Amino acid sequence: MGQRKRRIYLGGLAAILAVCFVAAARGVPQRWLERLFELDRLKESYISVIGRTQEYSYERCKADMEELQKRWPELVRVESIGTTAFGRDIMMLTLGNPDSPNRIWVDGGIHGREYMGAQVILSQVEFILQNEKDGRFRGWEISALLENCGVYIVPMLNPDGVMLSQQGVFSAPEAFREELAAMNGGSQNFSRWKANGRGVDLGCNFDARWEFIEGKPAPGPMGYKGTAPFSEAESRAVQDYLADRPMGITLSYHGAGAEVYWWYYQKGERLVRDERLARELSRITGYDLVSEERSRESNGGLKDWYLSTYGNPGFTIEMRSPEPCPIPIQAFLEVYEENKRVILWAMAWIAK
Ligand SMILES: [Zn+2]
Repeated sequence: MGQRKRRIYLGGLAAILAVCFVAAARGVPQRWLERLFELDRLKESYISVIGRTQEYSYERCKADMEELQKRWPELVRVESIGTTAFGRDIMMLTLGNPDSPNRIWVDGGIHGREYMGAQVILSQVEFILQNEKDGRFRGWEISALLENCGVYIVPMLNPDGVMLSQQGVFSAPEAFREELAAMNGGSQNFSRWKANGRGVDLGCNFDARWEFIEGKPAPGPMGYKGTAPFSEAESRAVQDYLADRPMGITLSYHGAGAEVYWWYYQKGERLVRDERLARELSRITGYDLVSEERSRESNGGLKDWYLSTYGNPGFTIEMRSPEPCPIPIQAFLEVYEENKRVILWAMAWIAK
């Protein structure tokens, strides 16, 4: 190498180092690198608040939400957004900044027997809160994400159905028991029950091509769509709450199937955006994406309604299960690990 070339080479190298030094001093490369390589720095602390029992009850779920509020009063707010047919409050937890325009909706337990969703969602909330002080996720400080987003969470949207699945007719007020037993074909085994307390399947009670749903002709454990969209207290509570608070993204937890529904008649740029997000979600969870063809077969879901009415991305996440629902608690850790970063991922996307 000649003198001149060497001088240019060293000069260039010095310039690059200087840029890196200035950028490092401003904390830029760390953020870039974390974003580029999808890195995070999160304490793997033990989830101590959220219950780990097989039958995660409505009472325990509510108590856990209140405990989170007690421990992190600045970041958690708990309230009721409606009342079910059996008189239970439909509990919502708001995480982060309720004044932020960056809103995320998360729900679970729409189907009675799929109650593990509540544990998976609330464990994610505790995980985020435990990392609130010095955690980082893909270039964001967790505290900044909490400042830049409001996450609206109903972990157990169908508490009557959940309690029927866990405890059968005795979980219902006496006046309803006979009718419930008849709806269940005379059986006392309600473990596979999906509907709400009135025998309406909330998975098809939202206003999205509702008229095309055939389903079951009468109230029962699953598949009956109700007399009209939003005929039920639970779906109406969601409709009313969201009417004044548009959500940038919705995440609905169901189980099981290890797959993600994302398609619902989007077009153009929305289709491109939603497919890209769906692929990211699939990569994080390890779950497959449901094809367009199969997605056409189901209508009336919360995400179908929200996505087609408001135009923002929405996802139904079917958790993995080694056997039919309810998911056995032995599978909890695996399911939780797969989903641990899902809410954080949505926060990082919407806060950008
Ligand atoms: Zn479901």
